[in-house]
Amino acid sequence: MSLTMTNPAIILPTKSIGTLLPSSPSNNQQQKLPSSSSSTMLFHSQQQPLFVTSISPEVFSKICEYLTPIDIFKLSRVCKQYRNFLCTLSPISQNIWRTSRMKFLPYTKLPPPQGMDEKKYIKMLIYDKSCEFCGNSDPRSSKLYWEFRVRCCDECLLKRTKTFEDLKEPGEIPVEVIETLPCVWIRGGAFAVPVHRYYWIDDIKSTTKEYYSLLKGKDRKNWLLKRKEHHKKYMAEVSQYYLEDQKQWNEMYKKHRDFNLNIKY
Ligand SMILES: [Zn+2]
Repeated sequence: MSLTMTNPAIILPTKSIGTLLPSSPSNNQQQKLPSSSSSTMLFHSQQQPLFVTSISPEVFSKICEYLTPIDIFKLSRVCKQYRNFLCTLSPISQNIWRTSRMKFLPYTKLPPPQGMDEKKYIKMLIYDKSCEFCGNSDPRSSKLYWEFRVRCCDECLLKRTKTFEDLKEPGEIPVEVIETLPCVWIRGGAFAVPVHRYYWIDDIKSTTKEYYSLLKGKDRKNWLLKRKEHHKKYMAEVSQYYLEDQKQWNEMYKKHRDFNLNIKY
């Protein structure tokens, strides 16, 4: 599935992050500021943003080193300026999220999968366990599908995927093309069929379009060879993330069990 990434460019403030912030705080806010304008606190006691007068992106990053990923998500919602600063693919923004993840999420050892930014990675892992399509917030109903880089519920998955059999029968897409697409194998559960390969519809559309835009013969053959190679690497990476999930679960389970044993004895 091709991920739509936001524009990687971020325009950093020329001198300080203060230039990213509203330049004219209300009178009320001005009254609440300490007399010394050199203060660089981010919040006042009522948890509203304090308009920092002289804070460089480097200092802002340094402050963020003490914040958990959840704090950074909250910070990114404080105002448009913070969001613009934190929610980009700029190296400084990515570094803020990465540092926080490494420091506060000890179970998350792997870097984001190829094509995914740090914020989306952390969001999928810990911050938002609801279905990213329908918003179903029951964490038990949604699952991470690393193959498609999404977290979604069964219902949304079924709406956005097709089985191998669905694709093969009309014969519109050559089988060798289907086999270069990421897929999930699903067994039982909420699904009517015991085991099937499910393919993401958007992936099918974009890949089919690409295939038919090539000339028959050598072009398609070379394209398929490259796709096969890419698919092998992609699925190997996907396996790593599932293994990591399992490892995390085992570690957390062990920790929980040890904690309960300590209470008991
Ligand atoms: Zn859903």
